[in-house]
Amino acid sequence: MSLPPSVTVLGATGSIGVSTLDVLARHPERYRVHALTAHRSRETLLAQCRTHTPALAVLEGEGDAAWLRERLREAGLATEVRCGPEALVEVSEAPEVDVVMAAIVGAAGLLPTLAAVRAGKRVLLANKEALVMSGSLFMEAVERHGATLLPIDSEHNAIYQCLPAEHRGGLSRHGVTQLLLTASGGPFRGWSRQALAGVTPEQACAHPNWSMGRKISVDSATLMNKGLELIEACWLFDAHPSQIQVVVHPQSVIHSMAAYADGSVLAQLGNPDMRTPIAYGLSWPERIDAGVEALDLFRVARLDFEPADESAFPCLRLAREAMEDGGTAPAVLNAANEIAVEAFLDGRLGFAEIGELVSRVREACPFEPANELDGILAADARARREAWAWLGRR
Ligand code: NAD
Ligand code: MG
Repeated sequence: MSLPPSVTVLGATGSIGVSTLDVLARHPERYRVHALTAHRSRETLLAQCRTHTPALAVLEGEGDAAWLRERLREAGLATEVRCGPEALVEVSEAPEVDVVMAAIVGAAGLLPTLAAVRAGKRVLLANKEALVMSGSLFMEAVERHGATLLPIDSEHNAIYQCLPAEHRGGLSRHGVTQLLLTASGGPFRGWSRQALAGVTPEQACAHPNWSMGRKISVDSATLMNKGLELIEACWLFDAHPSQIQVVVHPQSVIHSMAAYADGSVLAQLGNPDMRTPIAYGLSWPERIDAGVEALDLFRVARLDFEPADESAFPCLRLAREAMEDGGTAPAVLNAANEIAVEAFLDGRLGFAEIGELVSRVREACPFEPANELDGILAADARARREAWAWLGRR
């Protein structure tokens, strides 16, 4: 009898990582946990190692790794502990791994996610920044190495479910006329530019429908998340930005849609719970229990739709423009945004200035072709330097 597939969870201690472990724990006979990784959350990782007994655990620093090694030894557990970015790559490409959940936040996830793709794994992609930075290179690597890429971002997972099983090669070949990317509108939907100026990190991180990590919560509040998702959708589904319409849908029950030439619009609905797309990615093409409550349409009662306000929320437009520019422009946008969000969360930048900082960095960094990983990483580094310099001048 063959062993069940073995799973590495990159970013196990985050919001997506915890939801992934919840789904895995419901199906101990179907999956094995190979490795769990975290940045610094050693206590949470220790608790996860006790429950899931992975072969390997990875932390960023040697001090934290030594601490975890000692606790695991005391507990009589055989989990081996490693540290540093190379260890993230190792647990992503190891031959004994079948599935990699890419759930690190930000550019830090690029190298291990790409390593999983290049090793031909089934890659469950939550880490949208990795694809935004390296779109063309990433998708070419998926093809070349025969990786199975399943989108976990709820919108892209919904679109994936609404498209024909074989959908590569351009949407129009499959009769798809438009992708309708839904957006909750975030906590500040309907707010004016002036009102947005005084927003605090606590307000920005209190999303009305989803509970998520702090970075993506801020991105959802600025609509940069929808911009990154637009770029993500272009790469995943071979779409031009003009084929994607953002639809604000405050109830977050429809997770996105595909419109077809015959007038049909297919949608995927469900309660806003990331365990649904995670379970889909793990079990595809089968379906398994995700622990998610069935959707009660009488309780939902109504579904509303409105256009996004791109003048109060310029980040969506900035992202669309970066995708239209192409090359390293999305990597520059992403890096500038990561620095802007960090600065906002640390109280060094106003909410309404996030878009301004991103825009300034885009102007300062001319885009170049993005065919090589080194060029992408150089563009990312340069954009971060420009962003820090701009913050320093203010
Ligand atoms: P989070 O902040 O809750 O968790 C991030 C995880 O990555 C943690 O385990 C953390 O330890 C690890 N990490 C952070 N920095 C790291 C570094 N430098 N090196 C190694 N590990 C690092 O984030 P999240 O909300 O779980 O989001 C993870 C990814 O999934 C993001 O790219 C996000 O955009 C995407 N995503 C999240 C949701 C959601 O509902 N949370 C939905 C769609 C997509
Ligand atoms: Mg999403």
